[in-house]
Amino acid sequence: MTCRKALSAAVRRLADISDTPRLDAELLMAHALGIGRESLLLSRLDNQGPETFEPLLRRREAGEPVAYITGRRAFWTVELEVGPGVLIPRPDSETLIEAAVDHFGKAGPRTVLDLGTGPGTLLLAALDQWPEARGLGIDRSEKALALAGRNAGRLGLAGRARFRLGDWGEGVEERFDLILCNPPYVEDSAELPGEVSEWEPSEALFAGPEGLDDYRRLAPRIGRLLTEGGIACVEIGAAQATAVTALLEAEGLKATLRQDLGGRPRCLVIEA
Ligand code: GLN
Repeated sequence: MTCRKALSAAVRRLADISDTPRLDAELLMAHALGIGRESLLLSRLDNQGPETFEPLLRRREAGEPVAYITGRRAFWTVELEVGPGVLIPRPDSETLIEAAVDHFGKAGPRTVLDLGTGPGTLLLAALDQWPEARGLGIDRSEKALALAGRNAGRLGLAGRARFRLGDWGEGVEERFDLILCNPPYVEDSAELPGEVSEWEPSEALFAGPEGLDDYRRLAPRIGRLLTEGGIACVEIGAAQATAVTALLEAEGLKATLRQDLGGRPRCLVIEA
């Protein structure tokens, strides 16, 4: 069977379990062929499909996220290695990088801190954006840090990225021009899609009854981690802007709301 035919059949099989069946099928086919999706679409559709496609498709049919099957996820300008136990980067989080780009422009921040870096997502996107910047990524998951270190190496950013195990900014003495943070913020009672709740790490998603537990711990620490003129870009849930702004204002910080591409509140830009 040609790749084209195999893809059409796969789209039908994935239609019930995925919002993006064609994209999923193309990414899995490209992965099976060991090529990029563009090459698949431009020049391989009429070739024989590989036998290795079917087992990948079965995993997807069982609900496993595409990024865990391929082990890769694109974010901003970088491609990250991801895997079970680590939150899959979401396009919504690119809102934080956009906010930082608007603030710093081409000159960029000199130093970047990513709190809860996961596979290095926000830190490595920022370091790729600004070739002079250096940064620190902190996470409390060893698994995440192993991936983050590998990602930095593969992207040629290892010389400018440090990673360390830690609990938010606890014990960090330096100050940073830019702080990036996508903490867990989902309410404990929220019903997430099975693809998220059954596969992704709950410790990267849930944050107490209102989803605010980690903001309560972060708010008192942000001010002393920022340089003069520095900003923190912190991701929030769409309904949390008022509550999180109040927590920050109680610490003497000023927060400005920014929306994602879908027009939902997504990021607070914080100044000391
Ligand atoms: N936006 C993610 C989701 O709804 C949540 C990510 C997070 O808690 N930081 O799946």
